[in-house]
Amino acid sequence: MAKDEPLYLRPRVEPPLASLLGEARFLHSLVDALGSPLNVLLPEVVAENAARFLSVYRRHRLSGRVYFAHKANRSSALVRRLAACDPVAVGVDVASLGELRHALGCGFTGDRVMATGPKDPQFLWLAARVGATVNVDSAGELRQLVELVRGHGLSRTRVLARLSGFESDAGYGGVGTRVLSRGSRFGTPVAEAEALWSALEEHADAVELVGLAYHLDTTGLEEKARALERCVLLMDECRARGLTPGAVDIGGGFGVGYVAEAAEWERWTTALSEAVLGARPPLTWRGHGYGLRAEGGTVRGTAALYPAHRTVAGPGYLDELLSRPAPALGRPPATLLLEHLNNLYIEPGRALVDQCGVSLARVLEVRRTSDAPDRYLVRLGMNAGDVSLEEHVVLVDPVLLPRDGAPGEPYGDGTGGNRPVGVHLVGNLCLEADLITRRLVYLPRLPSAGDVLAFANTAGYAMDFHAHRAQRQPVARTVAVTREAGAWRWCPDEDYWPLIHPEKGPF
Ligand SMILES: *Cc1c(COP(=O)(O)O)cnc(C)c1O
Repeated sequence: MAKDEPLYLRPRVEPPLASLLGEARFLHSLVDALGSPLNVLLPEVVAENAARFLSVYRRHRLSGRVYFAHKANRSSALVRRLAACDPVAVGVDVASLGELRHALGCGFTGDRVMATGPKDPQFLWLAARVGATVNVDSAGELRQLVELVRGHGLSRTRVLARLSGFESDAGYGGVGTRVLSRGSRFGTPVAEAEALWSALEEHADAVELVGLAYHLDTTGLEEKARALERCVLLMDECRARGLTPGAVDIGGGFGVGYVAEAAEWERWTTALSEAVLGARPPLTWRGHGYGLRAEGGTVRGTAALYPAHRTVAGPGYLDELLSRPAPALGRPPATLLLEHLNNLYIEPGRALVDQCGVSLARVLEVRRTSDAPDRYLVRLGMNAGDVSLEEHVVLVDPVLLPRDGAPGEPYGDGTGGNRPVGVHLVGNLCLEADLITRRLVYLPRLPSAGDVLAFANTAGYAMDFHAHRAQRQPVARTVAVTREAGAWRWCPDEDYWPLIHPEKGPF
């Protein structure tokens, strides 16, 4: 491959996101009216994603609920759209007092809410007050909850016990292997669960154990399968002591495929190694190696990248996790759950908002870099906090939406023009480090000021999680878009409600 061939990482876009990105004029008019950066959400897609997860449940004859991990996106439209889904099948996982209040205001009743994460007394009180399920992090948190319930005369609160530190020991995994799962600062280590069971028995007047939970921040199927079967066995232990848990909550982390083509991902990651070795020009700002380094002519370290091309992700990942024989008992987790009469809870964040949104930025300036010929700086009306793909090391190209839908004008002295070009995307902060990505991004042609770059699939964590008001730069507005009778309509995120439109049929 020629060394100057463009190394694309083109995004995976499916309908309806794909057809939205085809509406350059509409998207330009939104940025003209509402400013750059701008977040655009497709609330209908989040409901479709929930349905896809639930169809995996059906395929395995499992009951339970899909809880949206709210922390992935602050949007009202997405949470309201999910509130309108089947109340038995779809809930919300909130990790702060603010998210709990928001979920309730969006139409979720308390019994559809799961409270996870670190909790202050106000969060615990409101969760218990509205009848949410509390995903209890530690024995200390359980005590705090029990005191609140008793002290305020609240009704018995449903709790899940969040566990961590799963490992296979001699009595469990056989053959003397000890496979520790990754450490977590959340959850009660399985080794200390005994004290938790005792506390649950002692405080049975105030709290009811309805299940066991974990959330492992990994893509590793084996590690997750191990934790899942361990929970099934621990459920039986709990029942033997007279506790009555009914559900296993396996958390989130089902993942999203961001890059469409496996070959592009392979090519880029291979080229990164070559660039780190000096065998080709840098692919990144100032030779950043994403964790790789050259040592005596070989590449060392591991690339700390999100696996942006995925062969299985989201509902497909859940299907695979449930289907493949689990490590210790050698049976599929779905079978174990069924036989032990356990419901399945999941808490997808990123995967539930797959294909649900796009972040738009206006191109403000295009100029040559001083250090390499034929490379350009493209300054955007956004900063790294507004589209924090880099923060999560998700590497994927934006889509160029020319101002007039016209092919590009040659840039400046005519060396740009209608051919692929490598650019560095820089942000609107007066800060050397404000790069939208440290990766050299190839675009099909050089953009011009006034064009828009669309970052696809940013609804999970990339849109508003890291947005800030540094330098009083504008924080992105967020709009919800819906398609009615072939035409795209939009409204501010906070004005979206999942109503049947009075004249025009369902949203
Ligand atoms: C963040 C989080 C999730 C969601 O994780 P994703 O990777 O976005 O699916 C689910 N459960 C808990 C407890 C979390 O902290």
